[in-house]
Amino acid sequence: MTSWSAQITELIDPAVARSKVTHEVIIGHGALAETGQVVRRAMATVGGASRVLVMADDAGFAAAGAPVVETLQSSGFDVETLVLPSDPLPVASVEEAEPFRARLASDSSMFPVSVGSGVINDLVKWAAKETDRPYVTVATAASMDGYTSAGAPLARDGFKVTIPTRAPIAMVADLEVIAAAPAEMNGWGYGDLAGKVPAGGDWLLADALGVEPIDDLAWPLVQDHLRFWLSGSQGIAASDPDAVARLFVGLTAVGFAMEFHGSSRPASGADHQIAHMWEMEGHTYEGRKVSHGAAVSVGCVAVLALFDWLLDQDLTGLDVDAVLASSSNLSGKHVAARQAIADPSIANKAMVEVAAKHIGQPQQRERLLHIIATWPALRTRLRDHLLRADTMVTMLQRAGAPTHGAHIGVDAGHLMRTMRAAAFIRRRYTIFDFLEDTGLTDAALAAVMPKLTYGNQQAAE
Ligand SMILES: [Zn+2]
Repeated sequence: MTSWSAQITELIDPAVARSKVTHEVIIGHGALAETGQVVRRAMATVGGASRVLVMADDAGFAAAGAPVVETLQSSGFDVETLVLPSDPLPVASVEEAEPFRARLASDSSMFPVSVGSGVINDLVKWAAKETDRPYVTVATAASMDGYTSAGAPLARDGFKVTIPTRAPIAMVADLEVIAAAPAEMNGWGYGDLAGKVPAGGDWLLADALGVEPIDDLAWPLVQDHLRFWLSGSQGIAASDPDAVARLFVGLTAVGFAMEFHGSSRPASGADHQIAHMWEMEGHTYEGRKVSHGAAVSVGCVAVLALFDWLLDQDLTGLDVDAVLASSSNLSGKHVAARQAIADPSIANKAMVEVAAKHIGQPQQRERLLHIIATWPALRTRLRDHLLRADTMVTMLQRAGAPTHGAHIGVDAGHLMRTMRAAAFIRRRYTIFDFLEDTGLTDAALAAVMPKLTYGNQQAAE
């Protein structure tokens, strides 16, 4: 049995060595005190910078801001802070990042340092990219996998896209700060990491159909260790330092996997498409914006339920002509997307994504024949990889993460609408597309919804 500290040497250090962008990652107890020296080394790689702009929101600054400023000052830096309010929580959008971008753009001697978790990290990442500067990120919670990744999942004019940005030049993660984060935030990170189980299933489907082959770098970096990272579920809710460290190492490795693969495919499938729908809707529950990890957590259970159902089917008996006769052509899919997505500007952008992955009938016939011929082997491969939805529900519950729509204010009708719309917003091939290709969408949704709704009733009681 390995340990998180062994994985720093065995997984994270080699990933840093391979990374074209990230030069240094420090994960450990008391790591915060090294921030000044980390920034000094990072700054030495670029000309012109001499001062530090620490960007945070109130919550992130309260978690680590003062010690970060102190270590920077004692390393001889002139430090300025730019802190957004935490109430309301900052939104993951290009518009929200504008003050950071503007301050950096106005002073070329400013070196950007992010202190915070998900949204702040993404805002700074975008602002640094726009002003063509490297940045250092100081992580304050194990709440998502984006610290070491290149993409920033931000909304622009209300449409969620993964904007190509750069990963940080260095990351500092003090495990005392991270273990002290609100337990629910580390639960969100656990949910984000749990989503890699169904996301791996989606990638296996795309691989089997020749849509997007699995690679031999990003896949093992995430999937070979995923069960170990997820094994500390009980400790997450209890803020157990060892479990939280294990989770954080996993989230960090996932970030590198995305950089090495060149997209978020190693980390994001149908579960994230569901989450992105709610994020684009600006979905709130109990007066707060539902976090990325909480949304992924619920999406993860829903997608695993679809996989459970799919694995119970015998696709060797598919009636190809019948499936083709009932399949939608591109304009039919466009109509369905418009019906499923209420917001016209989101629907407009979805048109492009739908067209990008649409295939004509001859290709669909070929795909169906391939599925029929290879289903037993594919089913075995999926079974070996996946976890059952029930098992995942238990793990997520232990970690304090939401598992059903009712836990985040999504009722059965809303969940159903989301499941119908989610595939339209990204061209990435997932189980949603596989069900569409095989004519099984309606049957699958009808089978899993009572189960997911049963959870709603339980939660409401
Ligand atoms: Zn995520």
